[in-house]
Amino acid sequence: MSRHIPHRLRQFVAERANFRCEYCKIAEQFSFFNFHVEHIISVKHGGQTTKNNLAYACPICNYNKGTDIATLIPDVVPLVRFFNPRLDTWEEHFSVAETGELIPLTFIAMATINILKLNHPDAVIERKILLKLNLI
Ligand SMILES: [Zn+2]
Repeated sequence: MSRHIPHRLRQFVAERANFRCEYCKIAEQFSFFNFHVEHIISVKHGGQTTKNNLAYACPICNYNKGTDIATLIPDVVPLVRFFNPRLDTWEEHFSVAETGELIPLTFIAMATINILKLNHPDAVIERKILLKLNLI
C-alpha cells in the first residue's frame, strides 16, 4: 500500500541516494520512469514513513520487492532479510561483473538479487552498456 510522502521528504530521499536506485544502482536519468520512494520495512510490517525507513528505488526493484522484507534460500539459510540501504553498505554485499551481472558477496545480497530480480537479462544488458560507457 502506498502512503503519501511529503515532497520535502521525497526530495531528501532522492538526494541522499544521488538519484540512483539504492538496490540496483541504476541512475534515474537513464530510466524512462520516475523512481519511487519506498518503505524498506513496509507499512504492512510496521514500517514508518521516516528518513531511516525510506529508500529511493527504480520501479522495477520496487515492484519486485513489494512489501517483502526477507526470503528463504533453500538448503542454505532458513530466512534471510533483504539488503537495507539504511543499515548496509552496497559495496560490502554486491559486486558488478564486466558482464553486467551483479555478484552476491553475502546471503543478504543473494536474497535481494533473487527476489528483486536484479540479474534479469534486461537489467544485465543495461548494466553492461552503462559499465562500458563508464556511467555506473
Ligand atoms: Zn533498481
